[in-house]
Amino acid sequence: MNVSSPVSQQDEFLQKLLNVADRIASEGDLQAVQPLLEMTSAHSQSPIVTALAESFARMVVKLEAREYELECTIKDLLAVKAELERANYDPLTSLPNRVIARDRLHQGVLHARRNDGQLAVLYMDLDKFKWVNDNLGHPAGDELLQQVAQRGLACIRDSDTLARLGGDEFLCVLPNIDGQQAAEDLAQRFVDTMNQPFTLRDGVAHIGASVGIAMFPAHGTTVDQLIEFADAALYFAKHAGRNVYRVFQVEEASDTPPAA
Ligand code: GH3
Ligand code: MG
Repeated sequence: MNVSSPVSQQDEFLQKLLNVADRIASEGDLQAVQPLLEMTSAHSQSPIVTALAESFARMVVKLEAREYELECTIKDLLAVKAELERANYDPLTSLPNRVIARDRLHQGVLHARRNDGQLAVLYMDLDKFKWVNDNLGHPAGDELLQQVAQRGLACIRDSDTLARLGGDEFLCVLPNIDGQQAAEDLAQRFVDTMNQPFTLRDGVAHIGASVGIAMFPAHGTTVDQLIEFADAALYFAKHAGRNVYRVFQVEEASDTPPAA
């Protein structure tokens, strides 16, 4: 026979309710509410306790539903994030791709226009990169491209952008640059660092890099012009024997082959 008074039963029930609330708050354990529901019938003589337990149970059901919605939202957000990464980043090197490079260049041009500033675009293509694929294998070529990205990033500031356009071609956007000399200094750093041997899993590769430079506003004022003129300057760097940089020259522009 149950000899405890209704008041002490009520206290006992409230203590259990408090424990459940604590477990939900500290561990997020929504299952902790289950024993409460079973206890409710034992307290049917106290309508307020029964109502409290039922209200608690309804709250837990709502919480469970919210938790499920949250999990679905997180899943959706992760899927969108992965899709955005696929659309904007090169999977091999994790560098931004052409889409982001053009967007950063566009932003940089707008900013430079507003502030009477300068901006540089460096177009880099590795020299004799095919040799690595042909002699050490395509995976070694991939590994080298990843190391090129790391070396390139080590040369630039956080506010600059180094993007992989595809193959062995990279584009570097330098917003807010002091002048052409700063762009030339960076181009020389690219040339020097890519000329150091690359230690790969399957051997050592000696390659190089050629770089073309175009300046805003001296050479071009639009995204397309700047990329085209940096590419044209790269063409002259290749023809100068590779492993060098060249700055776009207006008078040479008509000698370059039409862009592909
Ligand atoms: P050049 O000195 O004239 O620049 O010649 P190169 O040997 O560097 O070759 P080029 O720039 O004309 O061509 C780049 C090559 O890069 C072509 C292609 O076989 C190779 N390539 C393109 N994408 C990838 C890639 O993702 N991984 C690897 N391993 N190779 C690639
Ligand atoms: Mg190349």
